Amino acid sequence: SDFHSAGLHPVMVQNIEHCGYKDPTPVQAYTIPAAVQNRDIIAVAQTGSGKTAAYLIPTISKLMGKVKKLAGRRPNLANGYNPAVDAVRAEPLILVVAPTRELCTQIFDEARRLCYRSMLRPCVAYGGAPKLEQRDELQRGCDVLIATPGRLLDFMSEPHVLTLGRVRYTIIDEADEMISPDWEGDIGRIMSGGDTNEDSDHHYLLFSATFKPELRKVAKKYLANDHIRIR
Ligand code: AMP
Repeated sequence: SDFHSAGLHPVMVQNIEHCGYKDPTPVQAYTIPAAVQNRDIIAVAQTGSGKTAAYLIPTISKLMGKVKKLAGRRPNLANGYNPAVDAVRAEPLILVVAPTRELCTQIFDEARRLCYRSMLRPCVAYGGAPKLEQRDELQRGCDVLIATPGRLLDFMSEPHVLTLGRVRYTIIDEADEMISPDWEGDIGRIMSGGDTNEDSDHHYLLFSATFKPELRKVAKKYLANDHIRIR
């Protein structure tokens, strides 16, 4: 099994080559074909296992086949984008939630490489940095959003910034770091944030270093009954 036989978009296969990835890591070998089939996934994977590419490759690849449908969702930058007039909202199709700024930055770097030569635009949002620049980037259009829970909820509560109503893939990375008693409510709001219309076209991928009972609860609540477990 290599990247060529996984049913990926040709542009994605090229981007993987540019990244220098020759063979899928074990977590990628299991995750990519399942995610291409739009199965929900819960995977136990450590940092260094290639888990970031395991979820970014199939989900971004799926969107590459839909770029035409995305057209018209961009603010008209050619005529000078004015946030006061053009009350544009970012409508990401892929949402990646991760616990820390460092992790979000790493995921964003990988997303940028994997979105290369597509029309897809990744953005990143995390706390501990001014909101102005992040908000401005979001309002220029965002297809793949990588965010910490706090800053994400913050932007969700502002008018005209962000809606999760079009999210197709919600990915929770290092889920065990976030699904503690005090995070559960926030993650729950984020998980259901895109489910405005019982859309069965909304898929969930959970990645975690450990498999705690709380995680089992979240999986049971949000993942499809036929979800795949990878460990
Ligand atoms: P991660 O577990 O996502 O933090 O990835 C760890 C490192 O492995 C990152 O620097 C990736 O760029 C790299 N990586 C991911 N997938 C592959 C692959 N298939 N072959 C070689 N390196 C990879």
